[in-house]
Amino acid sequence: MANHNDHQSVRAEIDHRLMMTFSWTLDASGLPPMTVMRMMASALGAIYRQSANSHLAQQCPCGWQPVFQDIEALQSEMEMAARQRLADSLRDMPAVGRA
Ligand SMILES: [Zn+2]
Repeated sequence: MANHNDHQSVRAEIDHRLMMTFSWTLDASGLPPMTVMRMMASALGAIYRQSANSHLAQQCPCGWQPVFQDIEALQSEMEMAARQRLADSLRDMPAVGRA
């Protein structure tokens, strides 16, 4: 079973790889950031669909049984991450002007 540190390093690796994909795609395609992000969100949904379909079609040793709530969990995970980081960035931003 993976421990907490393993989860953090896996998460850091995924963050790094997706950021590289995002940056590379922005540069290579010249597409707007939101267009690229929507493509990436769509790709993640497709990964879920393909994995869920294969788990529904045949038993897998991992034991995962896809349920409809998985999609809601993915949506809320993305929303929490997006809002958290935005809040962090806004808090770290130096105050402009004087009160
Ligand atoms: Zn599995």
